[in-house]
Amino acid sequence: MSLRPYIVGNWKMHGTRTMLSEARSIDRAAQRLMKVEVAIAPPYTLIHPIHREAEQIAVGAQDCHEMEGGAHTGDISAAMISDAGAKFVILGHSERRQSHGESNALVKAKGESALAGGLRVIMCCGETEETRDKGDAVSFVTKQLKASLPVEIDNPMESLTVAYEPVWAIGTGKVAQPSDIEEMHGEIRKLLVNLYGEEHGGEVRILYGGSVKPENAGEIFAIPNVGGALVGGASLTADSFMGIALAAAETDEG
Ligand code: PEP
Repeated sequence: MSLRPYIVGNWKMHGTRTMLSEARSIDRAAQRLMKVEVAIAPPYTLIHPIHREAEQIAVGAQDCHEMEGGAHTGDISAAMISDAGAKFVILGHSERRQSHGESNALVKAKGESALAGGLRVIMCCGETEETRDKGDAVSFVTKQLKASLPVEIDNPMESLTVAYEPVWAIGTGKVAQPSDIEEMHGEIRKLLVNLYGEEHGGEVRILYGGSVKPENAGEIFAIPNVGGALVGGASLTADSFMGIALAAAETDEG
């Protein structure tokens, strides 16, 4: 069984309530594109308002704390985002690994907490340009991912998604070569099968992320083991985001 292509928008620190109309347009368009699973991860403040109105898309968060609660000023727990309507959480994004110093061990603890709280997890991984130039991209990413993924997952096929996002491709307009994406996604697939077995590890969706646009999406989705995209900049307008979702639907039709 293969899951539908998964197109997830990461709004990062963009969006106040004026963006609710864009979320409505995305939701309406997603209702006409049922072959694709569409979701957005807005800032925390928009999770509940979007969840309340959305009929088709799932809403998620861009991070959560690893603890269930306590004296953690400014942080938010998996239970809190779930209470606001989040169905999933993005973890280990390179912007958090870099600007908040998040280690693999911390990301793994967040993943365990999120799964225990009933959230689905999108686990991010990716190499810097320096690592790729040294020829170490595959070994770096597979090690990073292995150390970040929770070991015990009920039903990984449903509750886990991996996002491969080369750090140098995020927000830069640069996209990895199709052959490099194919190689990396193939190695990630092997790791997932190793960790979770063929039945689940063989089906967990592996998203590509990094400057995906409607213009390049079709080529990316045609690559083996690409199960969708994690989209930053191009997810901020319904037109460009749903252009990517449409490309996923068309590629899936073959
Ligand atoms: C991201 O931040 O997850 C991302 C892929 O951003 P962009 O699409 O803007 O490169």
